[in-house]
Amino acid sequence: MESKRQFSIILIKLFFIQYLSVLCAARNFDFFYFVLQWPGSYCDTAKSCCYPTTGKPAADFGIHGLWPNYNDGSYPSNCDPNAPFDQSQISDLRSSMQKNWPTLACPSGNGITFWSHEWEKHGTCSESVLNQHQYFQTALNLKNQIHLLQALRTAGIVPDGSSYSLESIKDAIKEASGFSPWIECNVDESGNSQLYQIYLCVDTSASNFINCPVFPNGKKCGSQIEFPPF
Ligand code: 5GP
Ligand code: 5GP
Repeated sequence: MESKRQFSIILIKLFFIQYLSVLCAARNFDFFYFVLQWPGSYCDTAKSCCYPTTGKPAADFGIHGLWPNYNDGSYPSNCDPNAPFDQSQISDLRSSMQKNWPTLACPSGNGITFWSHEWEKHGTCSESVLNQHQYFQTALNLKNQIHLLQALRTAGIVPDGSSYSLESIKDAIKEASGFSPWIECNVDESGNSQLYQIYLCVDTSASNFINCPVFPNGKKCGSQIEFPPF
């Protein structure tokens, strides 16, 4: 009788542990935006920019962030105050981060402030899937999967300061990646609309690009946009 009772208690405990693990693994977002910025456009504004202390970045798209999002367009942020950015966890990624995720904000920085902001605001909301090291490693891997500048160049779209149709830019990226991006523009000092950021969507496992469930709502670009040099 006693052993039967103990067996039931063990079963109840097991169910409880199972329930807790399901709760913990529950995804608390629906997909990611993977956002890349064109440094030429970040710098070509009234606010201008500052090159990182480690030197002028390559003329390539740089990572802005990997942002957990909900299908309704809203998004979680600053999800875990108990997981502050810890640069010692990504010391092996540092040179790759400097190259692929450079900071252009002023005053000049070495990237830590930017990465720390991205981890704390966005990364902590995907901790059920990616720890801090995995978060940064994953973003670097995603960038390696799509060569945006090459995709545009193949379509004759180059950062030469001239204007291209928004449709031709989207088509070139769709052709190369299989997925339609969202394009965000900013304006230069004369008010011209230019190619600032490219958004692609990624599944919750953070390994596959997907069709975006929803596009960000923001102001639209003009139908012709500039692609400034860097
Ligand atoms: P802005 O207001 O300049 O578009 O965005 C400011 C910041 O809000 C972005 O850099 C990003 O951190 C966050 N943000 C803006 N739109 C989205 C979105 O659709 N999804 C997520 N996850 N973050 C966003
Ligand atoms: P988000 O827009 O992701 O919320 O925040 C971007 C934050 O990172 C801002 O506080 C911005 O000043 C800082 N930041 C530092 N470097 C960069 C950069 O190269 N690009 C962008 N967009 N923001 C940067």
